[in-house]
Amino acid sequence: MMRLAGLGRLGPGRSGRSVFLRLACRGFSTRPNVVILGTGWASFRVLADIDAKRNNVTVISPRNHLLFTPMLASSALGTVNQRSICQPVRPLVAKKNATYYESFVVGVDKAKKLVNCKTLGGAEYLIPYDKLVVGVGFQPNDFNIPGVKENALFMKETADATRFKDHVLEKLEEANYYTVLDNDPNMSEEEKAKIQELLTFVVVGGGPTGVELCGELTDFLYNEGARLYGHLKSFIRVHMFTYDLLNTFDQELQDYAISHLRKKQNVQVHLGAFVQKVEPHVVHVKLGESSMSIRYGTLVWCAGIKPHPFVKSFGFAMNERGSQILVDRFLKVKGEDDIFAIGDCSTIEDYWLPQTAQVANQEGQYLAKCLSNKDSSNIKPFEFHNKGMMAYLGGFNAVMANLPGVNRITGFIAFLGWRFTYWFLQLSMRNRFMLSTDWFRTLLFGRDLTRFGPRSRPT
Ligand SMILES: Cc1cc2nc3c(=O)[nH]c(=O)nc-3n(C[C@H](O)[C@H](O)[C@H](O)COP(=O)(O)OP(=O)(O)OC[C@H]3O[C@@H](n4cnc5c(N)ncnc54)[C@H](O)[C@@H]3O)c2cc1C
Repeated sequence: MMRLAGLGRLGPGRSGRSVFLRLACRGFSTRPNVVILGTGWASFRVLADIDAKRNNVTVISPRNHLLFTPMLASSALGTVNQRSICQPVRPLVAKKNATYYESFVVGVDKAKKLVNCKTLGGAEYLIPYDKLVVGVGFQPNDFNIPGVKENALFMKETADATRFKDHVLEKLEEANYYTVLDNDPNMSEEEKAKIQELLTFVVVGGGPTGVELCGELTDFLYNEGARLYGHLKSFIRVHMFTYDLLNTFDQELQDYAISHLRKKQNVQVHLGAFVQKVEPHVVHVKLGESSMSIRYGTLVWCAGIKPHPFVKSFGFAMNERGSQILVDRFLKVKGEDDIFAIGDCSTIEDYWLPQTAQVANQEGQYLAKCLSNKDSSNIKPFEFHNKGMMAYLGGFNAVMANLPGVNRITGFIAFLGWRFTYWFLQLSMRNRFMLSTDWFRTLLFGRDLTRFGPRSRPT
C-alpha cells in the first residue's frame, strides 16, 4: 500500500502532505535532489562539505548523529562522556537547508530512482533522487561462531558502550555480594571460583578497537576498580584472544603494544587464538595445536565486520566476496550513472583501502567536492592520503605510526599526540570543549561509576 511520498499513504503519524510539498517544490528546482544514506564518517562529511546552493540535500539515517568511533572505547568506561563524541546532525541539516528523516533505508528502485525508507515506527515511504550517496557502513561480524550473537557484547554504537559499562559495573557489584548470600562472610572455594568468573573480562579481537578497549578497561579496573573494590582486586583478570595484534602497524610497534598490554596493563594476551564457541559463561578457544576454555563474566567481541544484508538487496555491483559495493575511482557504483558509494560499505576497483574512519572521511570530502562542482571534466580520480595511524594502549601510553615526517612514536608522547589529534578532529568547538572538560574531570575526580542501566527505570 506504500506509494510515492505525497501521492499515497506514508504511514501513521507521518505528515504525508509536508513531505509531498517539500519534494514537489524541489521538483521545480533546477538543483538535483541529492539523497544521502547514513550519518557516519563518510556521509556526514558529504553533508558538511556539499555546496547546498547547488544541491537539494536529503539525509536518511536511523542515527541522528555522527559517532566519533575512535573514542567509543573511552566513552564505554566513562573517561569521556558519550555526548562529547557525538555530533548531532540537525544543526548541520538546518545550516545546509537540507532535510533529514530519522529512518532506515530498506530498498532502492534504480529504474524509478526511488529510495524505499522505513521510519523507526515501521511506516514505509519513498523518496525520489537524482543522485544517491550510499554510506551505510558495516556491522559487527560474528563469523557464525556458535554463541557469539547470544552471549557476547559488541562495540559499535553508543548503546553498546552504555551496555558495556553497565555490564562491567554489574559484574563488580555481583561479585561484591556473592559472599554474603549464604550469610557466611568466609569465602568457600566455590564462592572464590564464582567471583573469579564474574571478574574475568575477555576481549576478542586485537585490532585498534579491541586494543583500545583493553587499554581503557584495564585503566578503569586497576584504578577506580582496584581502589573502590579493594577486596576484589586480586580476582580481576583481563584476557585478550586474537590471531594477531594491531596488524596494520609494523612489527616493532606490534611488539611494543603486546609488551605494554602484558607487562603494564596486566592483560593476558593470547596470540594465534581462534574462538570456537561461546557459551553463557564459558569461552572455548583454539590456540595453535592446543585449546583452552575459560569461564568469564564479560566477553566483548571486537573481531570483525560484515556488510548489512540490505546492501546486497540493492542490486549494485559488488566485489568478488560479495561484501562491499564496487565503485570506480570517482566513487561511482560500477554500471550506475548517478549512484555513489563511500566508506566501509564500498570498495574501489583495483585500489584497495582499509575500512577506517580516515578513508571514509576523505571519500566523503572528495564526493562532496564532485557533487558541488559545476564542471565535472576537471575532476581527478580519488586518491587517499594516509595521515598516519594510532592506538591507545592504556596507562597514558599509545603508539602512532606513519605520521607526516615521523615514522613512529610510542609512550607518553604518543598518548599526548593521540589525545591532541582526536581533540583536533572533532567537528565542532562544542565537542572539543566537552572533551577537554571530560578529560580534566576524570583526571581530578576519576571515572563516574553511576549505573543508569536497568536499575534506573522510568516511574
Ligand atoms: C569502536 C570502533 C573504533 C574505531 N576506531 C577507529 C580508529 O581509531 N580509526 C579509524 O580510522 N577507524 C576506526 N574505526 C572504523 C571507523 O569507525 C569506520 O571505518 C567508519 O565509521 C566508516 O564510516 P562509514 O561512514 O562508512 O560508516 P559508519 O560510520 O558506520 O556510518 C554508517 C551510517 O549508516 C547508517 N545506517 C545504517 N543502516 C542504515 C540504513 N538501513 N539506512 C540508512 N542509514 C543506515 C548508520 O546509522 C550510520 O549513520 C572504528 C570503528 C569502531 C566501531
